[in-house]
Amino acid sequence: MIEGVIIKGVGGNYYVDTESGLIECRARGLFRLKNIKPLVGDNVLIRLTEEDEAYGYIEEIKDRKNEMLRPPVANVEQLLIFFAVTNPEPSFLLLDKLLIAAETNNLKPIICFNKSDFADEKLKKKYENIFVNTGYKIIFTSMYDENSINELRNILKDKLSVFSGPSGVGKSSLMNAVQPDFKLETGEISEKLKRGKHTTRHAEIYKLSFGGYVVDTPGFSSFELSGVGEFELKEYYPEIKKYDFGCRFMDCLHKKEPNCVIKEAVEEGNISKIRYNNYVKLLDEIKKNKKNR
Ligand code: GDP
Repeated sequence: MIEGVIIKGVGGNYYVDTESGLIECRARGLFRLKNIKPLVGDNVLIRLTEEDEAYGYIEEIKDRKNEMLRPPVANVEQLLIFFAVTNPEPSFLLLDKLLIAAETNNLKPIICFNKSDFADEKLKKKYENIFVNTGYKIIFTSMYDENSINELRNILKDKLSVFSGPSGVGKSSLMNAVQPDFKLETGEISEKLKRGKHTTRHAEIYKLSFGGYVVDTPGFSSFELSGVGEFELKEYYPEIKKYDFGCRFMDCLHKKEPNCVIKEAVEEGNISKIRYNNYVKLLDEIKKNKKNR
């Protein structure tokens, strides 16, 4: 049997990337019996059909490290969150939501500010300071800066990564810079095409020539927090967790309670105001959603 990774699934056909190239496969009936659906990203063992070696059957799906629902992809290791330093201006609230999405899906998040050719050192420092005491990895990239493209290549190498972030921030341009033969459409025209593409329900991953895969998906471009409770939210703010001891109330939500160490940490600059304000906004959002349910 041959080992491979499913990189595309369309209507019961799976395209498996193997050492001997791409092989079109069907899944064995036993998966349906067991109610298991092969997913893009699955590591599989396949057997070639006797008549034609370009076709095969998926015989075994190896244990999944994780399973993402939207987009449906298995074994994703990291979530790259893209925003532009400007043009369009970053939404730090959406950024926080994507960070939470990464954590709830057990993915390592990496924050990538693109179009860094528009940013001076002062602006970069400002963005870095927003994430003070979070421990998140932050990189600045530009399609015009080969060093930053190499840094991105190193991050992507040998991993299965998902690109996320709003449109227009340069995700396709960066993918093309990372690997020129991708030739993804960029700019306004691509927006129109992509909108059409969004309606299809299949996920696809791209193979990187230097090792690794990237998920091509508009997934997470907007995002509703689901399944995160009010008291759980602070678990997803590493800097709040870091300073979260000594409040007057044991169950302090760090909102309007008196003698709150988190509000003090914000005043002292150990937690950024932007992140704290987003935290409070998300608390309200969670509360509102609970009421509407
Ligand atoms: P996507 O929607 O996130 O895939 O964004 P695109 O890759 O389509 O890029 C949107 C626009 O931003 C295009 O006009 C690109 O030429 C431009 N762009 C992308 N990356 C950069 C960059 O690093 N610097 C600058 N100045 N413009 C960029």
